[in-house]
Amino acid sequence: MAALHLITFADAAGSRAGVLLDGGRVLDLGVAMPPARDMVALIEAGPAALAAVRALAAAPPAGAVLPLAAVALQAPIPRPRRNVFCVGRNYMDHVAEGDRTRGITQSEVPKFPQFFTKAADTVIAPGAKVPTHDGVTKWLDYEVELVAVIGSAGRDIPKDRALEHVFGWTIGNDVTGRELQRRHGQWFKGKSLDRSCPMGPSIVPAADLDASDIAISLKLNGEQRQSSRTSKMIFDVAEIIHQLSAGFTLLPGDVIMTGTPEGVGYAMQPPQAMKAGDVMELTIEGIGTLTNAIGD
Ligand code: MN
Repeated sequence: MAALHLITFADAAGSRAGVLLDGGRVLDLGVAMPPARDMVALIEAGPAALAAVRALAAAPPAGAVLPLAAVALQAPIPRPRRNVFCVGRNYMDHVAEGDRTRGITQSEVPKFPQFFTKAADTVIAPGAKVPTHDGVTKWLDYEVELVAVIGSAGRDIPKDRALEHVFGWTIGNDVTGRELQRRHGQWFKGKSLDRSCPMGPSIVPAADLDASDIAISLKLNGEQRQSSRTSKMIFDVAEIIHQLSAGFTLLPGDVIMTGTPEGVGYAMQPPQAMKAGDVMELTIEGIGTLTNAIGD
């Protein structure tokens, strides 16, 4: 069974959900399956709708196929209904590199996931520009992250049922103004600059990808900066969902960024910041590559 790559795309007729097909083609779900015309509607329609999409992708109706080159990819969920939920300091080598920038040499493993959010409208499409935010931050940095997309609502979700609530997986870039993150105490200011959350290019359904031990990496201008595996998370996705959902209802279409591995620019010797023209390529095994440049 080939993995489904679910996308959101736009053309002159507007935005709708689709499936990436081989040969540079797109299955237009707005035509083939109108009740699932947007990604959150498709997610909310449940497993039967996903099965129907799978059948359509296997035998796409000719009238519902478009050339990929004729459409513009959007983030799979272009505007989440709620803030993007995030976990900080979730890979030990990243905890240690961050501590080193503050003179701490003996890092301790966090005891609980460090939750924060990015505003929902920070999300941008694959290929869209991330602003330099000149005058606001001098320390713009990248972070490749596995993103869990919630499929079914739940509160107080037990760890052993948590992955049942995951619809699928995508890639997120938690672009950060480092000095803002640090100086404001709460991370929101440094993490929620306009257009600081590239996401995509596709969602791969959870049934098609075991994300527990897959390669996660980032190149800046072709130079390998981050390279790890999702199995190195301190709190795995099930634990994150278990703890985030304690007394807090997760909803279909919620997106959870699960933390970045080591290799951020701010922890390099000497520290490196991004500048206009820089190109970030984020790759997660089985999902794809998310590419965005810095520029105003
Ligand atoms: Mn992050």
